[in-house]
Amino acid sequence: MKWEVVIGLETHAQLSTASKIFSGASTAFGAPPNTQASAVDLALPGVLPVPNKGAVERAIRFGLAVGATINRRSVFARKNYFYPDLPKGYQISQYEIPVVVGGTLTIQAGNGNAHEKTIRLTRAHLEEDAGKSLHEDYHGMTGIDLNRAGTPLLEIVSEPDLRSAEEAVAYAKQLHELVQWHGICDGNMQEGSFRCDANVSVRPAGQSEYGTRCEIKNLNSFRFMEKAIEYEVRRQIALIEDGGRVVQETRLYDPDRDETRSMRSKEDAMDYRYFPDPDLPPLIVDEAWIERVRAAMPETQDAKRARFTGDYGLPAYDARLLSASRALADFFERAAGGGEAAIDPRAAKAASNWILGELSAGLNAADLDIGSSPVSPEMLARLVALTQSGALSSKMAKEVFSAMWSGEQGGDPALIVKARGLEQISDAGAIEKVIDQVLAANPQQVADYRAGKEKAFNSLIGQVMKATKGSANPGQVNTLLKEKLK
Ligand code: ADP
Ligand code: MG
Repeated sequence: MKWEVVIGLETHAQLSTASKIFSGASTAFGAPPNTQASAVDLALPGVLPVPNKGAVERAIRFGLAVGATINRRSVFARKNYFYPDLPKGYQISQYEIPVVVGGTLTIQAGNGNAHEKTIRLTRAHLEEDAGKSLHEDYHGMTGIDLNRAGTPLLEIVSEPDLRSAEEAVAYAKQLHELVQWHGICDGNMQEGSFRCDANVSVRPAGQSEYGTRCEIKNLNSFRFMEKAIEYEVRRQIALIEDGGRVVQETRLYDPDRDETRSMRSKEDAMDYRYFPDPDLPPLIVDEAWIERVRAAMPETQDAKRARFTGDYGLPAYDARLLSASRALADFFERAAGGGEAAIDPRAAKAASNWILGELSAGLNAADLDIGSSPVSPEMLARLVALTQSGALSSKMAKEVFSAMWSGEQGGDPALIVKARGLEQISDAGAIEKVIDQVLAANPQQVADYRAGKEKAFNSLIGQVMKATKGSANPGQVNTLLKEKLK
C-alpha cells in the first residue's frame, strides 16, 4: 500500500513590537522574572486592554505580503481555560473573525529536483501569549514567570497542502524568511519568537478524504520539525498497517529519544467557551490605513530575487541565497555597486562568490550575522575591483581578504596590498624581463618544449612565478611565454 502524507502547520510568530499587545509593558527578552507583567497583562480588576497599533499594523503587513484579505472588521474573543501561567483565566485571541483571511505562500520544494509549490493559507489572527512555568531549580516547586503574558503573537494557519516533512520545513523556512523580511517578527527561534505546531495525517494514495490527524506541538527548530514529522508518519503508517487506527490527539516531540508522545487526546480537549471580549470593541482597519502600510512596505523578496538574476545576471542559486534576508540582500547590493554605476555582472558574480564563500564561512565560524560583518560591503567592492583589474591574483585576494577580516589597515584592501607589497605584476615589460632570464637559465626545458613536451611549459611557468614570488599575473605570463617560445 502506498501512503500519502498530509500536513497543515499552525505557526506562532511573536510580533516585533516594543510593548505588549494590550498594555505598555516591555516585550524585551531575558528580563528577571515577573518584572515586565503589568496589571493589564494580569487582568487585575478595573483594568482595560488597549490594542497595540504596531501589532495590528504588522498583521496588516503580513496579510499584504501573502496576498490575503484584510478584514476591515475583526473581533477579539476570550478563550477561556485555567492554567497556572494564565492568571486571567482566559487568553485574548481572535476566533470567528480574524484580521487576516486567505493568502498564499510559494515554497521551493523537492531536494534535488526543486520545484515551486503554492501553499494556501487559511487565516492569521492576533492573540496574546501566556506566561511561562519554570520547573527547574525551585527545590521541587514550579515558578511562574509572567513576563511573556500579553506578548503579541500572530498565529498563521496553513491549509493541509503540505505533502512531506521536507515540504513542511520548506514552508516553515519560507514563512520564517518572510516575517523577518517585512519586520513582522525577529525570527529568533531559540527565544521562542517563531514556533510551529504540525498537524500530520496519512491516507492511502488516491483516497480523497483526509486521514485522522495528530498535532505535534511547539516545534522550535527546523531539524526537529523534520524529524518529528518523519517519526509521526512512520508511527501512523505502522499503526494502520497493524490493523489499528490513529486517534486524534496532541503529541509532543522528544528530541533526545527522537519520538513523539501523547500529551492529550481530543476527548480531553477543552471547551474554550469562546465569546467576544466585552472589554474590546471590534477592530476596525480602514482603507487609508491599509494603503499607508502598503506604501511603506519594502521591495518583496521575490522582486529582489528577480532583480538579482535579471539586472545583476546572477545564477538563480546565488539569487536565492543572497535574498534570504534583507540585510544580506542589501549587503550584496552595496558590495556589487548597485544603484551607482552601471552594473557589471562579472563584478556582481565575484561579490556573490565572496559573500557566499569566505564571508559566510567566516561569519558562521565566528557566530556573527551579516549586520556585524567585520568586512564592510564597500571594502569588499574594492577588493573585487582590485581582482578584476588584474592587480591581485585570486590567491593574493584571499590573503588580502583575511587581512581585511582582522581589520588590518582599517580593512581597506588597497592599503593592505601596499603595506604587504602584494601588488600583482601586470606590466608586460617587467614580466618579459623575468621570462627572458628564466629561458636563458633553462635551455634544456626550452628544447623539451619545442620537441613537443607540454610538461616543460608548466615547469617554465612555475619558474617565472617563483622568480616573481607569485606576484606575476598568471594569465599574462602564460600568453607572453607562449609568444617568446614561438
Ligand atoms: P483546530 O481548530 O483543531 O486547530 P483546524 O481545522 O483549525 O483545527 O486545523 C488546524 C490545522 O490542521 C490546519 O493547519 C489544517 O490545515 C490542519 N489539518 C486539518 N485537517 C488535517 C488533516 N486531516 N491532516 C493534516 N492536517 C490537517
Ligand atoms: Mg489549532
